Amino acid sequence: MMKKNVDQFINFFFKLNNKSWLVSLIILSIIISPLLISDFIQYKLAEKHLTELTLSRRKSVAHLATILLKEKFDHIIDLGTSLATRVQFRKLIETGKWDDAIKILASVPKDFLYIDKVLLFDPKGTIMAVTPDVPEVIGQNFAYRDYYKGVSKNWQPYVSDVFKRAVKPQYNVVSVAIPIKSDDIKESDRKILGILLLTIKLDTILDWSNEIDPGNGGFTYFVDRNGNVAGHPKFSSRDNIVNFGEVPVVKKVLSGESGLEILYNQIEKEERISAYEQVPVYGWGAIVQQPTTIAFATLKSYLRLRLISDGITLFIAFFLAYFISFFINIISVYHQKEKIFMDSIGDGVFAIDRFWNITLWNKAAYELTGWSADEVIGKPFRNIIKFIDEATKKENVLFIEEAMLYGEVRPMENHTFLIQKNGQEIPVGDSASPIFDRKGQVNGCIIVFRDVSKDLEVEKVKDDFIFRVVHDLRSPLTVISSILSEEDTIKLFSLDTSAKEAYDLMNSATKKMLKMVNDLLSVAKSKALGTSFKKISISDVIKEAMKALKPIAISKQIIYEYLPPSELPTVAVPNLEHMNEIFNNLFTNAIKYNKQGGRIIITHEIIGGFLKTNISDTGIGIAEKNIDKIFASYTRINEKEGIQGTGLGLYIVKKLIEEAKGKIEVSSKEGEGSTFSVYLPTEI
Ligand code: ADP
Repeated sequence: MMKKNVDQFINFFFKLNNKSWLVSLIILSIIISPLLISDFIQYKLAEKHLTELTLSRRKSVAHLATILLKEKFDHIIDLGTSLATRVQFRKLIETGKWDDAIKILASVPKDFLYIDKVLLFDPKGTIMAVTPDVPEVIGQNFAYRDYYKGVSKNWQPYVSDVFKRAVKPQYNVVSVAIPIKSDDIKESDRKILGILLLTIKLDTILDWSNEIDPGNGGFTYFVDRNGNVAGHPKFSSRDNIVNFGEVPVVKKVLSGESGLEILYNQIEKEERISAYEQVPVYGWGAIVQQPTTIAFATLKSYLRLRLISDGITLFIAFFLAYFISFFINIISVYHQKEKIFMDSIGDGVFAIDRFWNITLWNKAAYELTGWSADEVIGKPFRNIIKFIDEATKKENVLFIEEAMLYGEVRPMENHTFLIQKNGQEIPVGDSASPIFDRKGQVNGCIIVFRDVSKDLEVEKVKDDFIFRVVHDLRSPLTVISSILSEEDTIKLFSLDTSAKEAYDLMNSATKKMLKMVNDLLSVAKSKALGTSFKKISISDVIKEAMKALKPIAISKQIIYEYLPPSELPTVAVPNLEHMNEIFNNLFTNAIKYNKQGGRIIITHEIIGGFLKTNISDTGIGIAEKNIDKIFASYTRINEKEGIQGTGLGLYIVKKLIEEAKGKIEVSSKEGEGSTFSVYLPTEI
């Protein structure tokens, strides 16, 4: 399968007519394009993923900042509430002893360094006491301040916006205002006794924002509900309050949104990534900023490395593609040469693998079968090519099977026909040769075939000619023979001894010539006649031959031993005459080469689809070295023993048996006798 695909692949390139640049381009595209596309997609995915990661990290930092600020404010409110609810403290406030009350709180700014000042207000917003002491503010009313408005709204703890201190040094602060209430059990019964105010310097808030690590080059700052900046590293708490109310991200964070924005900062002349989130409960905003160049530095360096590694991969892939295309070009040129070579062969040539799938198909094979290479390559041979036997019309691929099995060249059987694509049958001949792999095992076969119609025509003309010549020769020879057999002639030649010798010579030569002519005529006849198989009884043929030769057998006191089984199968033969000829010849030899008083034993066996007939004699036998020779024409082994013969008998017997799709075997022991075994098919 794999080989088939590789062949198709190579064939595809081969068809590009040797346009090597096109081949290279296709290979390059096949290898590089998927790499390029996959690299591009992966690059984009990595970029997206890392960007999201970078941004989400900034978002997390902003979220962390809101938690931090909320916790700080919560903590100060908790502190303030616990101070404002102290029993002793509350009693002093209730009885108007503000100075005593503030003394209780004097240690607070020292214990909690983030608290700048602690102030006590009456419920109307007038400062009654302060620690550390700032005498000039005592008695001043600050009801206009945001913290007063905030806390007095519902008399709940309140974190103010950023504001500038009233007394010098006028740095910016934020206050936490806690209502001081009477200790009645029910909330609604509690009276407002005053306000406890804890002020926090913006420097403290800057310390808090510094607790958050926004990454290199980044910083965190907060804005109050009005957009006033707190904890910004660039603005000192002593400067004027800076309002970012118009900055887009501040606007968004104050309206409750959270998110990310990449903006160009005109003042700093750089692009910045800002993550923002609102501080829950207090309505403040936390903003984390970092220059994009720094925020995305890791991402950029990763992507740069990726680009370099992708570039190297592509570079290697490019060379790989180049070498592959180079080798494919070489293979395709080799393939082209092979094809030109195969196509220049006049005979049909094709190859099959060991699964009998067609792997090679030359031009002549196309011309002879009508099937093009495209139609057959990779397909099972038996689905395309039909080699059949002329007489039986059965598939005839024994020569291929044997070539593959024995690893030897095997000729196609005679009378093999090929069924063409259009259904026409043509006589073909030639052979199958095994293909060996590197281990020396057969892994395919090359089949060569050609149209032999013309050869057959020529042979037929030749056979007809021989038939005519032999036939014409027989007439005068028969005349001479019959004259020589006439009594008058015999008498005439018996008068003189030398004439008698001449007569005997003439007579034996004429008989020999007549036998030869008759034998030749049988061969010529068998070729001239067609072949159509019919079923016959071989025992009838044997009995007929025995009967015909009985006189000669008797003259040598030879006896037959033949007991045919009652249910002997019939055999399918093309010609009954030829069967007579075969057995006549074999019995003649069995008598001729037998001893005086010898025996001829005939037996049958059934082997496979064949009826085997054994004719054994008790004669002179055949020397082992001669056994292979006896079926050749004009071969006589026992000439010197004075036994008459032409040397054609067994040659004709073999030919006629083969014509009947059978075979002949011989086994013999010199001086003891011979057995000739004839195999004839029981089925057509
Ligand atoms: P021939 O006309 O000489 O008999 P064949 O072709 O019939 O020609 O036989 C070829 C040779 O085979 C013979 O010359 C003979 O030596 C040998 N041969 C054939 N049949 C027998 C047999 N039954 N026993 C011994 N030799 C035989």
